[in-house]
Amino acid sequence: MSGLTKIVNSVPIVSALAITACQGRPDKILVDYKCSPLEINLITKAMDEWSEATDSSELDIPFSLGFNSDEDPYGFLTWERGSEAVIYKIETTNPGYPVLKERAGADFLGSSKEFTYMVFVEDNIQGYVENEVFKNYEEAFYGIALHEFGHFLGFEGHLSSPHSIMAGQIYAGVETCIDEETLEYYCDLQECGPNKHPTCKYNIEE
Ligand SMILES: [Zn+2]
Repeated sequence: MSGLTKIVNSVPIVSALAITACQGRPDKILVDYKCSPLEINLITKAMDEWSEATDSSELDIPFSLGFNSDEDPYGFLTWERGSEAVIYKIETTNPGYPVLKERAGADFLGSSKEFTYMVFVEDNIQGYVENEVFKNYEEAFYGIALHEFGHFLGFEGHLSSPHSIMAGQIYAGVETCIDEETLEYYCDLQECGPNKHPTCKYNIEE
């Protein structure tokens, strides 16, 4: 983001504020009170893993727990990028689900928009656990959180390697991580630190 910093430094403060308001990162991420302590822990871990992989402390945006999504149950559809981003946990019965499904073109486990919102679909995630695509709910939720954080932090599109956490599909029994390819792609788009490194904890056999 050094390019942006230069622009901000060379324009009057009012314009700089305008740039920050429409293009900057949110100051905090509101987390749906429907998320369990385990899910909140996994969301936090996923953000930490991206920070570690990219060696970028800029990714550490504080979470604010206790956002009451009942007051705005499908507000993610109209959520605007600003000082607060939001994480929802919904079920497929949520009226916003079919809208996102139509945009995505298929059923989905999670969805996110850059620095704006992230949505987890609990019953769909549970379904993939029951179909043994994932070993258990914790593994499923963590994998989805890592993937959606990738999009949330600015990762565009998907990669073809089934081992990448940013693969467009889930392959049963295939371990995924922030691998070399994912990191290279990401660090072309966003700023990464000198100690960036893949976070894979297994050996990929080609
Ligand atoms: Zn995706």
